[in-house]
Amino acid sequence: MTNDAAAANAPQADKFGFEADVAQLLELMTHSVYSEREVFLRELISNAADACEKLRYESLSDEMLAAQASAPLVTISLDKNKRQLTIADNGVGMSREELISALGAIANSGTRAFLEKLGKDSADSGSSLIGRFGVGFYSVFMVADHVEVATRRAGEDEAWLWASDGKGSYTIASLALEDAPSVGARVTLHLNAESDEFLDPWRIESIVREHSGALSTPIDLVEEPGKEPRRIADGVALWTRPKAEITQEQYVDFYRQLSGAFDEPALTAHWRAEGRTEYTVLAFVPGARPFDLFEPSRKSKSKLYVRRVLISRDVDLLPHWLRFLRVVVDSADIPLNVSREMVQKSPAIAAIGKAVATRMLQELKKLAENEPGKFTAVWENFGAVLKEALHEDPSRRDDLFAIARFGTTKAEGETRTLKDYVADLRENQTAIYYITGDDAKRLAASPQLEGFRARGVEVLLLDDAVDAFWVTSALGYEGKPFKSVTQGAADIDAIPLVEDAKADEPPATDVGDLVGALKETLAESVDDVRVSTRLTQSAACLVASDMGLDRQLSRLLAESGQKGMFGKPVLEINAKHPAVAALAANLREKGREGAADGLHLLLDLARIADGEAPVDPAAFARRLSALIAGNA
Ligand code: ADP
Ligand code: MG
Repeated sequence: MTNDAAAANAPQADKFGFEADVAQLLELMTHSVYSEREVFLRELISNAADACEKLRYESLSDEMLAAQASAPLVTISLDKNKRQLTIADNGVGMSREELISALGAIANSGTRAFLEKLGKDSADSGSSLIGRFGVGFYSVFMVADHVEVATRRAGEDEAWLWASDGKGSYTIASLALEDAPSVGARVTLHLNAESDEFLDPWRIESIVREHSGALSTPIDLVEEPGKEPRRIADGVALWTRPKAEITQEQYVDFYRQLSGAFDEPALTAHWRAEGRTEYTVLAFVPGARPFDLFEPSRKSKSKLYVRRVLISRDVDLLPHWLRFLRVVVDSADIPLNVSREMVQKSPAIAAIGKAVATRMLQELKKLAENEPGKFTAVWENFGAVLKEALHEDPSRRDDLFAIARFGTTKAEGETRTLKDYVADLRENQTAIYYITGDDAKRLAASPQLEGFRARGVEVLLLDDAVDAFWVTSALGYEGKPFKSVTQGAADIDAIPLVEDAKADEPPATDVGDLVGALKETLAESVDDVRVSTRLTQSAACLVASDMGLDRQLSRLLAESGQKGMFGKPVLEINAKHPAVAALAANLREKGREGAADGLHLLLDLARIADGEAPVDPAAFARRLSALIAGNA
């Protein structure tokens, strides 16, 4: 492999071929269409900071190294004319053998996992995978045609120059000590034609701030040759500072940088957990709703650091129903050298995620108690997401019921807690009543509510899609079951009417024959017909049968394509309504055939009141026209 030693005085360069899988990776990097190419800088800075930490660690047991080591520092230098970006560190450096094993093969297990995934899963294109893995050192070839690494291993007195254009081979030559860093490594990138942006100091600074500003190693930037270095990261991660030393403004800045948003956090929580796993958490509840909150692909966006090295920008740490939080977790208990993908599956992460969820619920509870106004805004933005936990995680139900806010028939434009609701139960009321739909205003006008109003019974107006689901699985609150006002027979007879309602109650008509005629005429559309106790103003309404699904839930399921399996509704009629009295009289006079139009219309009216279309819109139009013409 040795070059023929013709130029005896020139430093000898040995040529090596990359291992096969590196070659495959390089092929991908040089042809990458991955849009976030700036990850190369994160990788280089993370390697440099790692090297500093390694030296720090080795110095613990080696006095000679300790004497040599200076304060850790990473320096990025830009040279526009030469189109060069250099990143130098005073870390542990690499020996010749280490160069071969580290930069000729694949050292990074994350990179290995990346390649395996790539091999298995050809549907996932390489470029979409890059961002999800730490692809390590080789990512430099996304932005550079030629890369040099000048390095001197701490404690050794030889230096080396590694060089490659990323096309299958690299060289290693001995380097004169005066040309090498006194300790550490200096990586020089000859940027390719598409990578001008990385010569712009502002761009570099913002990338550093986003990806590495939290590192425990300070970072200097030399904007052009000869210029004084400028510190762009101070090496003190915000969350590692004592809370008392952090200003509100710094928290807000950090939040904005973290979220890329411009609002102020509604809640900031910063704590350190000690115990079996030690970690620090800095978590924010945004002040505004992120636009993609309900996109199915949106995950919780937690940043995971291990000892201040960014491991993942979107580790799946938190349950789905906390996906609106912006969270940074820094733990010392997760090994740095496992792949980013493995980190996601590690039990430590699961434990931390659970603990963070618990703590954040407590924080929300505190906010609800101490600053109800602020909490109401949080609930308006994220209540619909939090309520998913009622359905998905029964162990969290009590915590959520404690903070949940609902619109009800009692307080227009305001929200009430379940505690408020239960405190105002009516005499003989045994359940917490609710109605679900997608528009609280329309819900409030539902005929099914009339009887409840007449008895002063409060009804929760549940207008989020998730509501239709959790009400069926939650067992109740303080011993009171949740009961839909649109399902089953209303068991509210025992609850006394309020005074006003008693006064204007008209007498009931005998509707026995009418009920029978409706049952026969409408048999195809309804399961049953009965006299209602829940109506006072309207002539008829539809409810689900006792055994059937709540009507809103059936509608949601039908919308998602699951048709026909939910049973027919029950038609309830109001025996005290003049229209019902007229229908009964008409039936006695003309018989079932003659009165058929009116019978059909009664059902269609009930459907329309529920926001549904008449059974047969054309027939409905004809019957209604006839009615208007005076013939029905
Ligand atoms: P990883 O950092 O996950 O190990 P990389 O591909 O980023 O994978 O780097 C490969 C290896 O190269 C590192 O493990 C380290 O041994 C070595 N290395 C890279 N950069 C430096 C550096 N600046 N100083 C010392 N060693 C380095
Ligand atoms: Mg690395």
